Amino acid sequence: MDIFFIVVFFLYGLIFGSFFNVVGLRVPAKSLFSEKRSYCDTCQRTLSWKELIPVFSYIIQKGKCQGCREHISLIYPLIELATGILFALNYFFFGFTNRMVLGLLLISLIIPITVSDIEYKRIPNKLLIFFSPLFLIYRLFFPLNPIYMSGIGAAVAFILVLIIILVSKGGMGVGDLKYFTLFGFVFGLYHFLLLFFLSTLFGSIGGLITMKVKRLGRKSRIAFGPYIGLAALTVFFIGEPLIGWYISLF
Ligand SMILES: [Zn+2]
Repeated sequence: MDIFFIVVFFLYGLIFGSFFNVVGLRVPAKSLFSEKRSYCDTCQRTLSWKELIPVFSYIIQKGKCQGCREHISLIYPLIELATGILFALNYFFFGFTNRMVLGLLLISLIIPITVSDIEYKRIPNKLLIFFSPLFLIYRLFFPLNPIYMSGIGAAVAFILVLIIILVSKGGMGVGDLKYFTLFGFVFGLYHFLLLFFLSTLFGSIGGLITMKVKRLGRKSRIAFGPYIGLAALTVFFIGEPLIGWYISLF
């Protein structure tokens, strides 16, 4: 395995992670292309190039804005680092294959949606609408076996999550429904079922920790999108061995 390309992918991931932060923050606020440069949310000061280096700027500035000394959320450098690691893993696992292209599409969809859902508790329609045709084209060139698995996956995802929304009255949102349905199409029925199981598992654990840490009440709304994304990435990277292990239990 070529260590050079792993490092290159990691560095590209850091840069893209920084871009995904901006996309996730600005798409719901409808200001992706209306702002010229990045700025501090608190004092509106335009950031210099030294403050735009992924991860390192945060460390050098000790997590504070150089203008107003306001704390910068730890989420942003973590998102950059996570994107770097995911890019590197994607190359490490799949090399220069069509599977790597699917990985890049998935990471580029999941990271901005995670940022947006954490920040605004919203899964932006615009991101789903932008990426859906790209996944459709990918699956036309590299279909699942058998080819109709994508359709069945999407249909089951849609019906299953719709029923949960109707029964639970607010446990999941329409954004979650569309997000799950897209993954049902991308991964097909069996991998989707694993993805759905993992997302509820991660969501329950994450939800309990969040409630404990933030001392929230039982009724408070917790963004579910990040757990769906985490489950999708888990299925993408280690879905095959996971499913093999699951089947071997019987
Ligand atoms: Zn500031």
